[in-house]
Amino acid sequence: MAKRTRITVETDSLLIVRGLTSRRAWCDRCEAEVEIVAMKETGVMTNLDQAAIEEWLDSEDLHHLQSTDGSALICLNSLLARVQKTQTS
Ligand SMILES: [Zn+2]
Repeated sequence: MAKRTRITVETDSLLIVRGLTSRRAWCDRCEAEVEIVAMKETGVMTNLDQAAIEEWLDSEDLHHLQSTDGSALICLNSLLARVQKTQTS
């Protein structure tokens, strides 16, 4: 049974990341085992500009991992760090 993950980060802008399935995997850039979410299974609800979100997803700031079936996975650590960076900048 899939574990349901709901992560809410409250900044000036509200960001909710909802993964239907979450897994743990090794992230080379964190050098740690992290929680990962599959992009296609993730709903991002935010009052941030949608274009800004897409910019994040394409940026180097987010750690992209590749699953065995080739789908895009995102390291949650990097996503949360990116949100906080937005808050402080
Ligand atoms: Zn990472």
